[in-house]
Amino acid sequence: MTIEKKSDAGWCFDNSFVHLPKVFFSPTKPEPVRHAGQILLNDALAEDLGLNVEILQSTGAQVFAGNEIPSGAMPIAQAYAGHQFGHFTNLGDGRAILLGEHLTPDRQRVDVQLKGSGRTPYSRSGDGRAALGPMIREYIISEGMESLGIPTTRSLSVTATGESVLRGTPLPGAILTRIATSHIRVGTFQYAAALGDKENLSQLLAYTVDRHFPELRDSDDLPFAFFQAVLDRQADLISRWMLVGFVHGVMNTDNVSIAGETIDYGPCAFLDIYHPETVFSSIDHQGRYAFQNQPSITQWNLARLAESLLQVVPGNPEDVVEKFVEILETFSSCYEKYFQIGANAKLGLTTLEKEDSVIYSELLNIMEESQLDFTATFVSLANSIEQPEVDPGLSKVVGFSGWVEQWSQRLAREPGSFVDAAKRMRTVNPVIIPRNLKVEEALVAAESGDIEPTHRLLEALKSPFSKTKENEPYQKGALPGSQPYCTFCGT
Ligand code: AMP
Ligand code: MG
Repeated sequence: MTIEKKSDAGWCFDNSFVHLPKVFFSPTKPEPVRHAGQILLNDALAEDLGLNVEILQSTGAQVFAGNEIPSGAMPIAQAYAGHQFGHFTNLGDGRAILLGEHLTPDRQRVDVQLKGSGRTPYSRSGDGRAALGPMIREYIISEGMESLGIPTTRSLSVTATGESVLRGTPLPGAILTRIATSHIRVGTFQYAAALGDKENLSQLLAYTVDRHFPELRDSDDLPFAFFQAVLDRQADLISRWMLVGFVHGVMNTDNVSIAGETIDYGPCAFLDIYHPETVFSSIDHQGRYAFQNQPSITQWNLARLAESLLQVVPGNPEDVVEKFVEILETFSSCYEKYFQIGANAKLGLTTLEKEDSVIYSELLNIMEESQLDFTATFVSLANSIEQPEVDPGLSKVVGFSGWVEQWSQRLAREPGSFVDAAKRMRTVNPVIIPRNLKVEEALVAAESGDIEPTHRLLEALKSPFSKTKENEPYQKGALPGSQPYCTFCGT
């Protein structure tokens, strides 16, 4: 493997995925676009990546639009499969191209991917392109997730193509430059398993372990240790989604990153009014990916990973299956552990007691009954300690005073004062999330040529835990009885 010389813009490509068997990718160049125009550039991320912001601002759009290939890049479309709404399909990057892997100044390896960069051998009947709205949406929400401390792919830029894409009506086209720890998915393993060649699968496993779980390299039981490690990261990730009210919307196995990052922001959205069965996506008719189903769907997706790994484990097949099932069954307790620590933190609790899960779930019941805003309720709880004289309206909510009684008794068993607890709560309960209304407002403006509302929203999202005068418009929660929000896949 040769490390390419750093370019003026700071690109430092060192491509390793291309050394896997050729079935895993197709060398494919992005299709040039008519008129590349920079819409958004993530300066802070560019700096962290060791890129030259000034150069990116002046000429980066040509690279981000796929019109120029930076030195050292080796563009490929990656192959993968996946269960989409429960049905197995061979997929692959149909509208994305991996430019290559860039090494950051602290030697982190990241994928640089162009999403919406034209047709590839995996495009099927699709046009390989993306519309501006959904690409800005991914930029806003992924960067919002990052500020909330949730593992996620990042967004480096959105670049207009100067071309239209047909999505019922003509829409402005754009390309998102996505930065990811990698784009290896559960679906990548399903793809390898479906090929039926043990050697491919072994190589994919060894490569993935090397890249994401190097501590497991010498494990005697590599496939099992790997599976356990992926399970752990997924349990941690999904618990974080559940604690901020994030609904991914398309948890197909091709959208599950092995590295444990949130990936593929399509119809995702955050809860306003709490309801466990919330579904935003217009295509999720059965509610398969509803808010409350996300942990169990994750376990289902992990079962698909386990199935894919069967081929590479020697020994009696029944024993092998049994061992995978045993690990898979640890998912619930693993998830609960992460979730309860996070749930307690949201309530100002630093210790764990047996009945704590009841306190949290009773609060959710109250929110559901009285149609309370998920995010705002936690903010109000901290307020109720710090400024008991200001009534945020919760005292009128049915069952709330009884719940507060229970919570106060529990808080009294914590070290430190109630005010200390409120301070802790402020560090974990966001005041600002990418509110559906605000995201929508920003997208509508962007589509008509005004990117300012997007800039203002992105700025507010950078400090989700700080309540300031400037970010006040982004703090507002939904009112009981407000209209349900609906999202579209944008493909
Ligand atoms: P997604 O819903 O974005 O996870 O995409 C599911 C699959 O459809 C992936 O294989 C994508 O590459 C493919 N796909 C989505 N949009 C397009 C498009 N406009 N052209 C070609 N393939 C697409
Ligand atoms: Mg996808």
